[in-house]
Amino acid sequence: MTRRSIRRVVLVGPPGSGKTTQARAVSDKLGAPHVCIGELFRSNIARGTPLGMASRSYLDRGELVPDEWTTEIVRQRLAEPDAAGGFLVDGFPRTAHQARSLTEALNDAGTPVDLVVETLLERDEAALRLAGRRSCGSCGRIWHVRFNPPAVYGICDDCAGALEQRSDDAAAAIQHRLDLYDRDTAPLLELYRRQGVLATIDASGAVEDVTERMLSVLGV
Ligand code: AMP
Repeated sequence: MTRRSIRRVVLVGPPGSGKTTQARAVSDKLGAPHVCIGELFRSNIARGTPLGMASRSYLDRGELVPDEWTTEIVRQRLAEPDAAGGFLVDGFPRTAHQARSLTEALNDAGTPVDLVVETLLERDEAALRLAGRRSCGSCGRIWHVRFNPPAVYGICDDCAGALEQRSDDAAAAIQHRLDLYDRDTAPLLELYRRQGVLATIDASGAVEDVTERMLSVLGV
C-alpha cells in the first residue's frame, strides 16, 4: 500500500515549543513553504504597513491580533502560488474562529489539512526557552542564551548580525502568551484528534532530536 503523502501541515504548540525552528528545519524536505504567521506580522511591522501599524501593540503585549485581520493575512498568504502544492503553517489557528475559517477555506478549495502536528512541551520549559531566546536581526536565525548560544555572545555565528530579544519575550508577556495558549489554542487539539489528523510529538530536548521526531510523523 502506498502511503498518502503529507503536504498540508499545521503546527500547533505553546509559544517556545520550537514551531518556527522546526518548520525551518523540515520545510525543504517536505517540499512545502514555511508560513509563519508571527513572521508575517513582524515583517508588516518592520515595513510600516497599515496592518503592521495596527497590529504592533498586540504583538508587544503578547496579545493575539484580532481574528479578522489574522484570517485575512493567512488567506492571502495561502493563495500565493508557492502554497498551491502544500504548506507548513506555524502559528495558525490559535482560536476556534481561526480553526473554523481555515477548515472552511481549505474544504472550499478541496485541499483539507493532511496533518496537525502538536509540539508538546511543559509550560515551565516553554517559559525558559522564551526568556532566553534571541534572534539575529539580519538573518533571523534563532539562538538561546543557554541552550543554543552562539560562539560569541550576542553575535550570530552565521552572518555576524547582532542578536535581539523580541519585545513579547519579556517576562510578563511570556506568561500571558502561555495563558492564551492554554485557554484559546490547546482546546483546538481535541477537534483535530477527533478528525484523525493529529500527531503529537515530544518537543523537549535538543533541536536535532525534535527534528527527527517531526520528520518521522511527516513521513519524509
Ligand atoms: P509567534 O511568532 O508565533 O510567537 O507570534 C508572535 C505574535 O504574533 C503573537 O503573540 C500574536 O501577537 C501574533 N500572532 C501570531 N499568530 C497569530 C494568530 N494565529 N492569531 C493572532 N495573533 C497571532
